[in-house]
Amino acid sequence: ASTRLVLKQIPRSIATFRQASTLVFLEASKNGNVMQSSLSALSAAEQLGNPITALLAGSSAPKAAEEVKNLSGSASLKQILVADSKTYDNYLPEALAPLALELLKNAEFSHFVVASSAVGKNLLPRVGALLDYQPICDITKIIDPNTFVRPIYAGNALSTVKCTQERKLISVRASAFTAAPAGATSASVGKAPEINNPALTVKWESENLMKSARPDLGSAARVVSGGRGLKNKETFDSLVTPLADSLGAAIGATRAAVDSGFCDNSLQIGQTGKVVAPDLYVAVGISGAIQHLAGMKDSKVIVAINSDAEAPIFQVSDYGLTGDLNAIVPELTEKISKL
Ligand code: FAD
Repeated sequence: ASTRLVLKQIPRSIATFRQASTLVFLEASKNGNVMQSSLSALSAAEQLGNPITALLAGSSAPKAAEEVKNLSGSASLKQILVADSKTYDNYLPEALAPLALELLKNAEFSHFVVASSAVGKNLLPRVGALLDYQPICDITKIIDPNTFVRPIYAGNALSTVKCTQERKLISVRASAFTAAPAGATSASVGKAPEINNPALTVKWESENLMKSARPDLGSAARVVSGGRGLKNKETFDSLVTPLADSLGAAIGATRAAVDSGFCDNSLQIGQTGKVVAPDLYVAVGISGAIQHLAGMKDSKVIVAINSDAEAPIFQVSDYGLTGDLNAIVPELTEKISKL
């Protein structure tokens, strides 16, 4: 009898790695401080239970690597790869994606984790498309290394996603994971592979950042937010700013407030803005539209000030002050300042 050799292709879904491991891309500021959102991504990576390799890119990467080496919250962090090149400054996804791809193609990484920041949101789909994998975006919980929870429908439902792809590409909602704390690790620092990028078709021109001495909105413990009820920029500045000062809080806003020119659009909170989960969120003249709630409803204590007792914001708030914000906010600010 003749023997027939049957070659069976192993479906991608059940192919396994010899050893699962995680690659985390970490962002740093121009002066080499690792972003809070990236520290949260590192905490999430830790929960996957695999050895972790951190990837840092850009001119500030060597300095940031020193900070990452001192993160005790990441016991699984084994290696820090530094791509010290100006090519990666400003984190253009067109430059970063080939670097991530090189590492993911050639090494046995089962998970690639980024923060769900503007940079992460730019990078992950590009890497997904190049590798032909579906990214799992904005996760808020890790059930096991294949199963993740992510909010859908502007945070009105939670979807549990079981991923059968051999590589999981994940972005992490920073407010859902505590940042990896400081303390020494035994991670080694090495060089990331050098990539010969073809001439980039995009060029970084400039940036115009709003300078503020306030805490960063994304990671502030307290946030005071203003809405359309403030009526104009003058009232926004003269009521919201002193209240935020008295609480040492960051300032946020609704889309209506931003669109009406009361403040900069970097302050927008919600479905199409930032997602925050501070200890205290004070909503001033905000109705509580679902698109706004999507960005703040996980705050620990919510205080709402609104003249309409039926405003939906009161349904999610722990403390409600019903009345005219023009009278309530100055009185509140004065009382807090005297504490
Ligand atoms: P309003 O809804 O007009 O509420 C103003 C409130 O102020 C009212 O409740 C009123 O009672 C109160 N008020 C008025 N005068 C006083 C007073 N003197 N004293 C006390 N209270 C007073 N919105 C966001 O915020 N973030 C987003 O990311 C976002 N993304 C969106 C994405 C999409 C696709 C769409 C369609 C919408 C999005 N929106 C977003 C818009 C959202 O639907 C609402 O229009 C917006 O949040 C309303 O902002 P607001 O609460 O400031 O204004």
